Amino acid sequence: MLINNPTKKVDYAVRDLSNILKFREKKFITDLDVFNKRVLVRVDYNVPLDKNGIITDTRRIANTLPTLNYLLKQNCRIILISHLGRPNGKIVESLRMDPIHKKLKEFFPETNVYKVEDCIGKEVVSKVSKLKNKEILLLENPRFHKEEKENDPEFAAKLAKLADVYVDDAFATAHRKHASTYGVCSFFKDKGYGFLVEKELKFLSSSIEKPQRPFTVILGGKKVKDKLGVIKNLIGLADNILIGGGMAYTFLLAKGYQIGKSVKDLSKLKEIRDYLRDETHGTRIFIPKDVLVCDEIENPKKIKIVPVTEIGENDIGVDIGPETIKIFNRILAESKQVVWNGPMGVFEFEKFASGTNAVAEYLAEIDAMTIIGGGDSVAAVNKCGLADKMTHVSTGGGASLEFLEGKVLPGVDALDD
Ligand code: AMP
Repeated sequence: MLINNPTKKVDYAVRDLSNILKFREKKFITDLDVFNKRVLVRVDYNVPLDKNGIITDTRRIANTLPTLNYLLKQNCRIILISHLGRPNGKIVESLRMDPIHKKLKEFFPETNVYKVEDCIGKEVVSKVSKLKNKEILLLENPRFHKEEKENDPEFAAKLAKLADVYVDDAFATAHRKHASTYGVCSFFKDKGYGFLVEKELKFLSSSIEKPQRPFTVILGGKKVKDKLGVIKNLIGLADNILIGGGMAYTFLLAKGYQIGKSVKDLSKLKEIRDYLRDETHGTRIFIPKDVLVCDEIENPKKIKIVPVTEIGENDIGVDIGPETIKIFNRILAESKQVVWNGPMGVFEFEKFASGTNAVAEYLAEIDAMTIIGGGDSVAAVNKCGLADKMTHVSTGGGASLEFLEGKVLPGVDALDD
């Protein structure tokens, strides 16, 4: 349902594009003198592991191959650093980097790929000193040290001592101000971003700077706060914003509908009302016309489709309904650029995944630039086997969201000269 009818457009030519401009100021890996050097590469190998410690999705590793291959051709000694999971400053055996080491050896059968048992200390310094050109050394999980997340300068300095040049290719961690993503940079004169970061930020930047029109943003998921930042930044720029998922219920509430026991964020009601009342921004905002409701998410006994005017006091809204899917598809059919972040329902349960699957399937069909902004939307696209049909599937949920919010990513910001 269209819930506002903007009448006139304001001039958005003066938008704050400082996050894009900051990115452009930084050095790309090919601008750096890396030949024969020791290069510390921050990657994001926070891969999913099954209970036997087997990596179930290796894409995060595969995505860094362009950077690693480039550095190998440049005769570099590569020192890789990545976190894995949340060990909270302690050694957690199941979060050691060994499965990743094994996978790297498979990706580079002709190259010596070593691993050390820590990321700082004597053993590491000694191993780095013995590393030869065209060899790779994987450091142990830096989050075994609490200093990593605290962005401790002494810890960062120890990491920096291991190399001559720093390359950031950890897009999914670029929104974190940690020692290995942020603090370490101040100790390097020569630093820049790798091929993965460049690909991610090129797509996101061009989608904001020169959108192909009509430009539609689809937002879903549960956390209203995160997504409101995106609305704030893209309102007036996007032609349409489609709202689904748990966040839609706070919008429905703001419009005066009963939402039963659905998720809501009352602290954001006023801000939402302000967006809906403002008729000058020129963006059409669509919220669900019908929804799927149930009595209980885990073991539902009752599931039904209802118009949003008929959500009962005990109903929990868990997906968008078929009428809403039709309306969203109509808007998508006429779009030339779509950015999607957040599922349309509790898609982890197949019964509540129809709306999310329908969006993924429709995006795969349309003739438009389609950018999937990380996290659960990417999981949904992958589950449907449609990742290859999208223009760009981001590796970073939080990072892409923050970039779309207009924020400067600390990991990129720190690459200053
Ligand atoms: P977010 O991190 O904000 O993008 O939220 C993602 C989560 O939102 C997923 O785990 C979904 O299960 C959840 N979600 C989507 N729709 C709903 C809903 N109607 N009610 C509760 N949770 C939802």
